[in-house]
Amino acid sequence: MPELGSDEMHSLHGPFGPRCSTHANVKSPRSCDGCRTALKAAQKADRDRRHAIRAAIDSCNDCDPYGRLWADDDTSWVDCPEHSNFRVEALAAEGRLL
Ligand SMILES: [Zn+2]
Ligand SMILES: [Zn+2]
Repeated sequence: MPELGSDEMHSLHGPFGPRCSTHANVKSPRSCDGCRTALKAAQKADRDRRHAIRAAIDSCNDCDPYGRLWADDDTSWVDCPEHSNFRVEALAAEGRLL
C-alpha cells in the first residue's frame, strides 16, 4: 500500500469525484490545491491498482491475459481465484460488488 501524504489524508471521494474535504459536494470547485491533490492521488491509486492487477495476471500460470480460466465443467469462463482482474475492478467501481 502506498503511504498517504499529509495532503491526501484530507481528501475523499465525493459524489462528483475526488475532492478535498471542503469541496466534497461541489461539482466544479475553482482552482483548489486540495482538490487537485485529491484528484492526482486518486488517479495514481487507480494506475497503481491496474499495474498490480496486470502484474498479478502476468505472473499467474493458471489464467488467460484477462485473469480468467475455464470452469471445471468446461462451459464457461470464471474469474481466476488467485487475484483480482479488470472486470471485477470495473464492477466494484460501479458499486455492484464489494
Ligand atoms: Zn477543494
Ligand atoms: Zn490467475
